[in-house]
Amino acid sequence: MKFPSPSTGWIGRIRALPFILLHVAAVVAPFFVEITWTSVGLGLLLYFARMFGITGAYHRYFAHRAYKTSRWFQFVLAWIGCSAMQKGPLWWAGHHRHHHKYSDQEEDPHSPIVRSVWWSHVGWVISGKFRGFPKAGMQDFDRFPELRLLDSFFTWVPGILLGALCYWIDGWSGVVWGFLVGTVALYHATFLVNSACHLFGTRRYATTDFSRNCWWAAILTMGEGWHNNHHHYQSCARQGFKWWEIDMSYYIIRTLGFVGLVWDIREPTPKALERNLIVAQEAKVSAPEKQPAA
Ligand SMILES: [Zn+2]
Ligand SMILES: [Zn+2]
Repeated sequence: MKFPSPSTGWIGRIRALPFILLHVAAVVAPFFVEITWTSVGLGLLLYFARMFGITGAYHRYFAHRAYKTSRWFQFVLAWIGCSAMQKGPLWWAGHHRHHHKYSDQEEDPHSPIVRSVWWSHVGWVISGKFRGFPKAGMQDFDRFPELRLLDSFFTWVPGILLGALCYWIDGWSGVVWGFLVGTVALYHATFLVNSACHLFGTRRYATTDFSRNCWWAAILTMGEGWHNNHHHYQSCARQGFKWWEIDMSYYIIRTLGFVGLVWDIREPTPKALERNLIVAQEAKVSAPEKQPAA
């Protein structure tokens, strides 16, 4: 059953203006600013570094506690995630935990199954309905004052400082190609996990939602596209379960573990990998089913 998308209202529209202007700038500014090798290299480097800030830090650490780390490195992870301009770690992880709790039900903040694809992709972000986050579900991290500060008063500081660093390195080319274009690309690659990964791809596990493994989303998001695997086993650091399911975020987490910055990296048990398998449906599903396989 489809529910109507909540109305945005004029206050919501005004609050969405910075996000919309950022998009306009990312489309228009490249026509007026020289593209340089430095700015392209910077853009690629910052895209992947900040994508890890979202996938490896915000998602797998703050939302799912898939590994442990020290308090200072936890803040470093939060800072890198914050530089992607997708709000703070408490906000991001709080809403993501809510997504898992109510996946593809009315309470899900961004389901393309119960609401429109537009709403699941970007509508919920610009609606102004989700300015706060479900605090009750984030008490494990909400107790750190430095995270609360970053989340509430300094959310835009890491991004703005990174933009300034790009200006220092390569002038306006650095800002536009190194920072701005990558920031907007990061938004939509991340949003694809909420929209496309509940619509397109294959289902390996009979989860209670419509999550799917979508290989092209996995490439763009450093492993997050193996979303049906993830809904099946949410608390493990790995989302690509087969050798060919490339999961760059997991490889980076393992490297951080190797040098001692993180530890207790959670792996799926062999038993969990076998549970609720849908062998017959793998590889054939391309359109949403009426009901997730039971
Ligand atoms: Zn999901
Ligand atoms: Zn998750």
